Amino acid sequence: MPKEYSEYLQKLNDRQQEAACGDISTPLMILAGPGSGKTSTMVGRVLKLLSEGISASNILAMTFTTAAASEMRDRIAAVAGKPIAKDLTISTFHSFSLQLCRSHAEKLGRTPEFLIYGHGQQRRAIIEAVRLLEEEKMSEQNHAASKSAEDSNDTRSLEYFKDKSKRWQKFVAQAKASGKKPADLRKIGDVTGAAILQNYNDTLKSCNALDYHDLISCSVELLTEFPEVFKECQDTWKAIVIDEFQDTSAMQYSLLRLLASHDCITIVGDDDQSIFSFNGADISGFASFRRHFPKFREIRLNKNYRSTRYIVEAASCLIRHNMKRCQYKEALTDNSCGSKITIKECQNEQAQCSFVVDKILETGSERSPDKLSYGNIAILYRRQVSGKVFQSSFRERKIPFNVHGVAFYRKKVVKAIISMLRTALPGCDDGPYRVVFKALLPFEKEEKKRVIEHIEKISTCRKCSFLSAAMDIFSAKISGTFKRSKLTQGRKVLSTLELISNLVKREQSISAVITSVANMVPQKYLLEQRAVVNADGGRLLNEDNDVRSVLQYLLDDVSDVLSMQVAENDSRRDSPEEEKGCVNLLKAFIDYITEREKENFCSRRQDNQNSVTLTTIHQSKGLEWDIVFIVKANESEIPLLHEFNGITEGDGASIEEERRLFYVAMTRARKKLYILYVAMDSNWQMLQPSRFLKEIPDHLREVQVKFAGFLTFFITSTACCFDFQTLIKNRLKCAVILVDGNFETISFQYCRFEVEDRSVVSHLFHQWAKKRAFQTPKR
Ligand code: ATP
Ligand code: MG
Repeated sequence: MPKEYSEYLQKLNDRQQEAACGDISTPLMILAGPGSGKTSTMVGRVLKLLSEGISASNILAMTFTTAAASEMRDRIAAVAGKPIAKDLTISTFHSFSLQLCRSHAEKLGRTPEFLIYGHGQQRRAIIEAVRLLEEEKMSEQNHAASKSAEDSNDTRSLEYFKDKSKRWQKFVAQAKASGKKPADLRKIGDVTGAAILQNYNDTLKSCNALDYHDLISCSVELLTEFPEVFKECQDTWKAIVIDEFQDTSAMQYSLLRLLASHDCITIVGDDDQSIFSFNGADISGFASFRRHFPKFREIRLNKNYRSTRYIVEAASCLIRHNMKRCQYKEALTDNSCGSKITIKECQNEQAQCSFVVDKILETGSERSPDKLSYGNIAILYRRQVSGKVFQSSFRERKIPFNVHGVAFYRKKVVKAIISMLRTALPGCDDGPYRVVFKALLPFEKEEKKRVIEHIEKISTCRKCSFLSAAMDIFSAKISGTFKRSKLTQGRKVLSTLELISNLVKREQSISAVITSVANMVPQKYLLEQRAVVNADGGRLLNEDNDVRSVLQYLLDDVSDVLSMQVAENDSRRDSPEEEKGCVNLLKAFIDYITEREKENFCSRRQDNQNSVTLTTIHQSKGLEWDIVFIVKANESEIPLLHEFNGITEGDGASIEEERRLFYVAMTRARKKLYILYVAMDSNWQMLQPSRFLKEIPDHLREVQVKFAGFLTFFITSTACCFDFQTLIKNRLKCAVILVDGNFETISFQYCRFEVEDRSVVSHLFHQWAKKRAFQTPKR
């Protein structure tokens, strides 16, 4: 065994060593709480596999987020070196399955370029499926009543179908995650469900598409129904290790079981950290594993190496409130107590952001006794949108940050999407076309380079644009340069560009345009990018399934831009709505992106290690930082009670899942944990702190509350527009404010403030008054 490997293994404790170095042909299950060294032990297991002569290219390591995959690769690279780490396949389930499906697409009735349907497209396909079903039903009824179809023309609006489709989308996702086919549903008497699923599947097939759930079930299908695929996988994947096993769905588990029929499998997990049930995650996987791999060995780790004692204790107190826990795990640590958990109320999101910024600057300052680099700090939130306010403040205050562990606009795939969009705008210069050709031409890197250089040469010689040079070349106006196959590929790129341009002209919704364009980025390009990045740092920036989060992020940005546009429209009431077509919105969006790109250019030289991480809690799993801020720990966020999510008050299981999510967030912190919540939203509605805060015992926390006591508003004189009821209803805690005058010359004086900062109240008041000024009073 190489010296570095044995040195690494010696640093593990006895139980960890026992797990890592045990016989590799015995299935192994490691069960333990957060920070107990599960991933560290798994790295040890990979080293053991390598030292037993299994080649890196025959080892498959699976995990659930791209960030966790890249973390694992970094850890292995640190011991075994980058070349070995590069040869390992460290993948998420989706990205692994995607590759398998693309390689055998024709067996699935698709071409290798099949599309992956994201949430929006799925929704549209489901609307279609529901509509088809309703039409069938209607025509049957009409037939029965022998009415003419025209008489009873269906007048139901798109809204009606949209509404219905929400429920069905969840149904389809669940059916797929559990591997149900239309026939299975029919067997249990669910005729409607079966019909919807069948219609939906048919639509996807006719569009040469698969959705994310299909990727897993199609992989299972390939392995069960095609012995040659099974053999290929057996020959390739001689050892399998899975981190975060608690998040596997039944379908994913079936895939694992097939892949690991040689028994050389290690699973690592913690049922208390299962947070992906919306994706079908199912902790009964542990029981299935015990059943299907009867020779398995189970090892439990119980010492937390990551966090201070206060954090470990607080997190265990929280998770004890969950009734449905598979196995009780004692959390112990030899670490010192550390400082108490700070729980803080902030007036609003802006105040919350200022608090965080101040703390970060304080910690990062040279004067701070334990100065930390920004890379040791993370901000965790439940929903992506809560991170936005931090991004703008960090920019202003020059704090380097990365979102999802990478600077978003540095991703080549994002650049490709943006460039494709840019080409649809009038006056587009050569730059975006160059990027688009690079992304869309399906040639090897060197060959692609030669083609692009040739286009550039022609464009310089003829003093014409890159696009017209490309058009001349590929329409064979300039003869003899390329073979026919290359001309065909070039023409394909040109027709994609035309498609995008038509889409922008035709489509009303900019989000729909972006979604379609994102799906046009070829898989080959995404894989290529992944290889490039791996070579110089082992990061999986552009892993395939990342397109989904890229898209989500872009769509978030779009909604920001849209709201800015709406605000603008409000202030210029004369601007006609029609003028704000898709092209104009796209322009505004591109301007916004250009700003972000510039900024990214500045941060390009900065080391990722030295930037604050902004991430959702889901994406933070498996990772750790010295200082963690959990922000917006409000009832409305965590638990996220939302009908759309299927999480409702009465639903105990969902609350338990939300608690696990909070538990994951808390256990990311090594030394200091801040939990912040806001007192009111931007509309002056009071917000409640998360119920989970009460579950952290008093002796482990220090609480900072800014608003104290009850607030009463006295409204005098002409201030009749105030919606007094709203204030009362929301139990507005604040101060006593006497309002005097009317709305033209509004002035108010405060009598008794229990709020520290008078300007905050004044600011809030003005904001509120502005909003209310044109409304008639509700009395
Ligand atoms: P999670 O459940 O959050 O994924 P985990 O169980 O995978 O956590 P690791 O990330 O492997 O835990 O380890 C947590 C921290 O503890 C890491 O910083 C790791 O270096 C450290 N650690 C693990 N084992 C030991 C050990 N035997 N001695 C010292 N430090 C250790
Ligand atoms: Mg881990």
